[in-house]
This record gives sequence, structure tokens and C-alpha cells, in this order.
Amino acid sequence: MNPRVAFYTFGCRLNQAETAILEQQFEKKGYQVVDFREAADLVVVNTCTVTENGDADTRRLVNKINRLNPRARIALVGCQAQVQREKLLALPNVHWVVGNEEKMELTRILQEHREDEKPQVITPAIRRRSFTIPVAGIDRKHTRANLKIQDGCDFFCAFCIIPYARGRARSREFEDILQEARQLVAAGHRELVITGINVGTYRYQGKTVFDVVAALEELEGLKRIRISSIEPTTIPLDFLKKMRRGSRLCRYLHIPLQSGSNEILQRMNRRYTREEFAEFLWQVHREVPNICLGTDVIVGFPGETEAHFEETYAFLRQLPLAYFHVFSYSERPWAKSRKLPGKVPREEIERRSKRLRELSARKRRIYLEQQIGRVEMVLFEQEKKGYWSGLTDTYVRVKVQSAEDLKNRLRAVRLDEIDGQTMIGHLV
Ligand code: SF4
Repeated sequence: MNPRVAFYTFGCRLNQAETAILEQQFEKKGYQVVDFREAADLVVVNTCTVTENGDADTRRLVNKINRLNPRARIALVGCQAQVQREKLLALPNVHWVVGNEEKMELTRILQEHREDEKPQVITPAIRRRSFTIPVAGIDRKHTRANLKIQDGCDFFCAFCIIPYARGRARSREFEDILQEARQLVAAGHRELVITGINVGTYRYQGKTVFDVVAALEELEGLKRIRISSIEPTTIPLDFLKKMRRGSRLCRYLHIPLQSGSNEILQRMNRRYTREEFAEFLWQVHREVPNICLGTDVIVGFPGETEAHFEETYAFLRQLPLAYFHVFSYSERPWAKSRKLPGKVPREEIERRSKRLRELSARKRRIYLEQQIGRVEMVLFEQEKKGYWSGLTDTYVRVKVQSAEDLKNRLRAVRLDEIDGQTMIGHLV
């Protein structure tokens, strides 16, 4: 019988993209990929280390695997494996700890590993070179598929562990990206999400992220191209022209701000001022009608006083943002901010985070209210209890009642009302 393997993914979209590729690789080697809750011979966990929670989550998950699946052997791969190998190796029943440089080689590593061998730790330094990916990360559950174009980062923001866990910035070979994109479209994906750690810094033989989008637009059958998250100083202005002209590039940008105080931005080693950020955001808002703009913000960075926080709050309130993700600052090994004075107490971080989350919910509501009465194209994904649900290019989830099979179809919908986080509409 074929060996059975289950996967579990923590963290970002890039991890999800990589797990999808690993699944394909394992299938090609004759494994049967099963759901995480089913009995498996091997469980592969793609770990995350961006916050302290990520670390605790891995520990809890390993305990759960041992309870659900006591005979399964466990491979912990990815970011946490790269920077905290000893800690992970101490967890029960862990046979492999494989960092980011080698994790895509996991099937080969398992093949070479003898049953009687001790647990293996493979975490070499991450090399800086362009890369290719041999198989397509087809995602059977979603209409969208992630397309990895880049990895690593050179920006070294003070709070961030990523340049250590994922290494320095490197780009995927241009033709290799297109090859995977063609396979994903042929497998039925209608939307591709351009994914990486710092995608705006993509550089391969003179090509930039703009060239990637332009080449993807030529693919027949592909309806949408979405940029996952992009650093403020790296966004090509020509993207705005494309979005305005109704190209396949979605009217959606997620641009991490992190703080609305110049003093804190400087301490964070971010590369812009609040004025520059605001100017850019307003420009996008003016030039691309109805665009959905989102951001990330970190609360409680060392040295963040009540006044800095209020500055951030007021700044976010006046910006044309449709939502923001709020992260409570957590201290990471390696990151420079560990050594900064002015730690903010945990309760204070929680209080500030709560206020920002409430503000984000209000901003979201305002954005959704602005959608009522509009006709938007919706890419439908799934049906539940007579309602089909899908997303607009502006990332609004929409439900319509229909007896038609709408799976993977792009249809015009008039948006009638708000229902919690989603909108109800009808086909036109
Ligand atoms: S830009 Fe800053 S926050 Fe983003 S991955 Fe690079 S170092 Fe981390």
C-alpha cells in the first residue's frame, strides 16, 4: 500500500504556496496525500516563526499529532526549523527538522534516510541565488492558486526575523514562473496570487514584478492576477494605470504600514515616512476608483508611547483604508528590536490592539456600504445551502442565490446588502 502523508501549514501565503508544491512532489513519488485528521505514516508541518504564537502553535500541534496519530513520524520544515532547530528536535516523535534551504528537497531526504537512523536536522545556511520550482502548486480546494515568484528579504526591519529565517532576497527565474502559471491555468485556476516575501523587489535579468504581471496577462484562460502584499516603497506606479484600465490586475493592494508615527517608523528601520505613505495611498485612491486598500500595523513596538499610539490611530482613521490587520508586537530571537529600550506592558498592547481592531471593523463597514448598488464581477468558488459564494477583484466576499452551476465562473453581480463580513447580491 502507498505510504500516507498529511500536511499542516502555519503562517503566510508563501508557506501555503510551498506546501501545495510539496503535496504535488509527494504524490509524484507515490505517496497518498490525506487529510490532516486521517491516519498517516508521515505528517509534514510547514512552520512559522514570525510571532511567539507561531512557536507555541508548533508545540501544541506536535502534541495533537501524537494524540491523533501516535504512529506517524513527524517532519518539521520551514522558518522555525531554520532558526530553532534544537527546540523542535526536543519535541516528541520528531524525525526530521529541515530548514528553508532544503525543505523542497524533502522527498529526497526521506528516501535517503534509513529507518534506524537518529532524527535528522538539515538546516544549512540559505544561499543567495535565483531559483526554479520543478512542479506546479495546484490547489484542489480553491479557485485561486498562489504563484511564488520571490523569497527572502534584504530590508532588515528591526522587528522582523524573516531575513534570518528565509534568507536574503532572491528571485525565481522568469520563464519558470510562466511555466508554472501555464500549468495552474490548465489545471483550472482562474486567479493567480503573486506571492513572495518582498515581491516588489523581484529582479531577474532586468525583469521586475511589473514584467511578471504583464507576461501573466497574456495567458489565455487566466481571469485575475492579484498581488498578495507589497512593501510601500516597491510598488510600480504603472500598476495603477493597469488597474484603472480594467486589466486583469485586481484593484487590491495590501501595503504594510506598521506604525503611523515617524519616530517609531525610524526605530523600526522602515524606509518611508508617514507623509510619504499617506501621499502614495491617496494617489492610489484617486487614480483607481473603488480600490480596496489594506494594511498591517504593529502595536506595542519598544518605545511606543501613548502619544505615538494616538498618532497611529488618528493616521489610520483618516486614510482611505478598507481594513487593517493588527499585530501585537512580540519579541523574536535575532531581530534587532529585542535590544531596544521601552518595552510596552502586555495589557497595554492588548488594550491598544483592541482599539485598532474596532477601528478596522468600522472602516471595513464603511467600505462595504460604499459597495451597495454597484455591479461587480464575482469569481465564484463554492455553493452552500443554495448560495454561491465568491470574491470580487476588490476582495469582497459575495453570496448569491442561484440554481446554476457557478463554480469557477466570473459573473456580474449587483451588490444589494451587507451580511456581516460578506455581501448579498444577485446575478445581472
Ligand atoms: S520588509 Fe521588513 S517586515 Fe517585510 S520581510 Fe522584509 S524585513 Fe520583514
